[in-house]
Amino acid sequence: MTDLRELYQATILDHNKKPRNFRVPEGANREAVGHNPLCGDKVSVHVQLSDGVVEDVGFQGTGCAISTASASLMTQAVKGRPVEEVLALFDAFHGLVAGDPEKARSKDVGKLTVFAGVRDYPVRVKCATLAWHTLRSAVLGQGKTVKTE
Ligand code: ZN
Repeated sequence: MTDLRELYQATILDHNKKPRNFRVPEGANREAVGHNPLCGDKVSVHVQLSDGVVEDVGFQGTGCAISTASASLMTQAVKGRPVEEVLALFDAFHGLVAGDPEKARSKDVGKLTVFAGVRDYPVRVKCATLAWHTLRSAVLGQGKTVKTE
């Protein structure tokens, strides 16, 4: 695990320890489940979608520090945003962690930039993007279990 130490910046550690929005919002009307068998991460994402806007969002699950922190930061980043902005942010975030700088620059990813180091650990990209894939499935109403493989 030593190679991961540099990756674990303070923000990631903090969000892993105290995940934000670790709950099912009362008005949740969309949900999806995600599973990353490679690492054992499991997450469910619950969204209150109203007029195409993510009014509220929460998540539950268990996983490694990266997957938990990513889900936590994701909920903060997308709350109150229209679905099309959420999908654009997902694209930018995916670009950031998968090492596609052009995509990453297409949108201001804000705090999510703490995950930039993940691109040096390809196996962790799935941990970082699991919650996002699951969120996308939830807001698009696909409602099925998302697997990263
Ligand atoms: Zn993981």
